[in-house]
Amino acid sequence: MEPLPQFSILHPSTADEAARMRAENPDARFLAGGTDLMVNIRRGIERPSAVIDLGGIADLSSVSMAGNGDLRIGASVTLDRLIEDESIVSRFPVLVEAAKQVAGSTHRTMATVGGNLCLDTRCLFYNQSEWWRQSNDYCLKHRGEVCHVAPTGKRCHAAFSGDLAPALLVLGAEAEIVGPDGTRTIPLADLYRDDGADHLTLANGELLTAVTVPAASQSFVAGYEKNRVRGGIDFPLAGVAVALRRDGSSLAGLRVALTGTNSFPLLIDGADDLNGGTVDEALLDALQKLVMKQVQPMRSTLTASNYRRTVACALARRLTARLFAQA
Ligand SMILES: Cc1cc2nc3c(=O)[nH]c(=O)nc-3n(C[C@H](O)[C@H](O)[C@H](O)COP(=O)(O)OP(=O)(O)OC[C@H]3O[C@@H](n4cnc5c(N)ncnc54)[C@H](O)[C@@H]3O)c2cc1C
Ligand code: SF4
Repeated sequence: MEPLPQFSILHPSTADEAARMRAENPDARFLAGGTDLMVNIRRGIERPSAVIDLGGIADLSSVSMAGNGDLRIGASVTLDRLIEDESIVSRFPVLVEAAKQVAGSTHRTMATVGGNLCLDTRCLFYNQSEWWRQSNDYCLKHRGEVCHVAPTGKRCHAAFSGDLAPALLVLGAEAEIVGPDGTRTIPLADLYRDDGADHLTLANGELLTAVTVPAASQSFVAGYEKNRVRGGIDFPLAGVAVALRRDGSSLAGLRVALTGTNSFPLLIDGADDLNGGTVDEALLDALQKLVMKQVQPMRSTLTASNYRRTVACALARRLTARLFAQA
C-alpha cells in the first residue's frame, strides 16, 4: 500500500451541492463508506484531488415508504442498517440475504448501498499495488496500453462484483440520480454499461441518491446465492439472484440476475419466456442455456473463467428450483 496522498475533503450538505462540487472538480471522487475507494487510493489506482464526503447529506441516509407502498432506500444507508430495517426484512428479505454476504461485518458498518452499487469493477491485473502494476506495465484500464486479459482487444473486461445489484435488479428497482441538470429516475439496469473501464452511465457531476423498489415486487419470492474462494469474506466469483412467481403448478414470472461474471450486473434476457410450465429438469436446462449464453467471465480472477460460468449456471438452477418449491 502507498501512503495516503494529499487531497482535500469537501463536505456538501445537499445532493445538489455535491453534484455541483463534482461538476466543478471532474477528478474528485464521491466518498461514501470508503471501504473500496480508500483501498484504491492507497493502491494508487485512484488519485483524486478531492473527495466529496456524502456522509453529511441527511436525505441520503433514510429508508422510507411512499404512499403507494414503494420502498425508497437512500444511497448512504449502510448495509448494517439495511440488514436490520424491519420494513426491508419483512418485505424484501432478498436484499438482506445479499447485504449479509458483502465483505465482513466491520466493513458493513461503514459500507453503503450507493457505494456497493457504484463499486468499481475488479480484475487480477488492476486491484494490485502500484509497484505490482508498474512492473507489469500497468494495463488498458489504468495508465497502460494493453489488456493482459485479452491482449488483442481494445476494451477492459474487469468484472462488476457488487452483491446488492442483482438482488435489486430482480425486484425491478429504479435508480434516482441527481446531477447539475436536476433529478432523473432510470431502471437500475440502465445505471450500467458493458465496459469494465467505464461501467457507470452517470454523467459528470451526477451521483446516485437512492434506489426505489416497487411494492408490486412483493408478489415475487426471491433469493440470492454467491460462490467465493474464502467463505468468510470475499467478492463473488459468481453471484445469482432469482425472483419468481408461481400460479398453481406453473411458473408465472421469472427474473434472474448475475454479478461477478460480466462488467455490469447482468439481468438475464428471455427468462420470462420460460413462464407457463412447471419447474422441471427441462425448464432448468433451458434456463441454464440462457445463462450460459449471456455470462462472459474472462480471465480477470485467479479462478478459471469456465469454472465461474459453470458455477453461475449451477446457482441459477439450484436457486430457481428451491424458490419454486417454497413459493
Ligand atoms: C476485504 C474486502 C472485501 C470485500 N468484499 C465484498 C463483497 O463480498 N461484496 C461486495 O459487494 N463488495 C465487497 N467489498 C467492497 C466494498 O466493501 C463494498 O462493495 C461496499 O458496499 C462499498 O460501499 P462504500 O460505501 O464503502 O463505497 P465507497 O468505497 O465509499 O465507494 C465505492 C465507489 O462508489 C462511488 N460512490 C459511492 N457512493 C456513490 C454515490 N452515491 N453516487 C455515485 N458514486 C458513488 C465512489 O466514488 C467509489 O468509486 C469488499 C471490500 C473489501 C476491502
Ligand atoms: S480486464 Fe484488462 S484492461 Fe481491464 S483491468 Fe483487467 S487487465 Fe486491465
